[in-house]
Amino acid sequence: MRTRLIAGNWKMHKTATEAVEFVYEFRKVVPISPTIDILLAPPFVSLYAVQQAMTTDDRFALAAQNLHWEAEGAFTGEISGAMLQALGCSSVIVGHSERRQLFSESNEEVNKKVKAALKHKLLPIVCVGETLEEREAGHTQAIVKDQLIKGLSGLDVENISTITIAYEPVWAIGTGRAATVEQAEEVHAFLRSIVTSEWGSVAQDVRIVYGGSVSPQNAEALFHCTDIDGALVGKACLDPTSFASICRLAAQASY
Ligand code: PEP
Repeated sequence: MRTRLIAGNWKMHKTATEAVEFVYEFRKVVPISPTIDILLAPPFVSLYAVQQAMTTDDRFALAAQNLHWEAEGAFTGEISGAMLQALGCSSVIVGHSERRQLFSESNEEVNKKVKAALKHKLLPIVCVGETLEEREAGHTQAIVKDQLIKGLSGLDVENISTITIAYEPVWAIGTGRAATVEQAEEVHAFLRSIVTSEWGSVAQDVRIVYGGSVSPQNAEALFHCTDIDGALVGKACLDPTSFASICRLAAQASY
């Protein structure tokens, strides 16, 4: 059975000092559970501070929000997988819709980043999702399939088993309008069927998490779905109590 993953994407929020305060508060309320993995993804400039504030018995690990595909070089303003690995990150978010939309990140770049992450022992959380226009035009499956196949192109079965896919409908991110349980489960099941047809039975090991206005109010119903293996949380992860509530609901939910 897959271990659920709850990842908090802080986006461009919190200074390093605020990040450390979060860790101290979150530690007091985070549930103890072997059935979930928890990730904190602060901005790059807070990774070191958070890593220093963490203890070996903390029930959460460190993730980054992005990486460059090269290990080093003349890429002003960029951060490499090698650097993230050296900082103690275990995972990295790749292809978030804000990167795709605001920074024109292509499926081909996502693929290079996924490969760079794996090379540096970072588990990639690969985001896919359609816009409202694409959904209304009936193109959801075609869009997420294209993003998935291109984003994971060239990966072997062993690598695929370590990937987390995040289904994040663009229209649900930061809008307070989450996908319904039925909408989410339908796309998750579809994504798993694509992984099965491309890579075989390893699809049963691949975590597919939902992202888009997840909150303590709507998380429980999502976590009861067969193909929803957790959540990528934005706004609701900025408050330690509400993020811990989502983690607790994931720990308690049965598939
Ligand atoms: C996100 O940005 O990945 C996200 C899911 O944000 P929110 O939870 O705020 O919709």
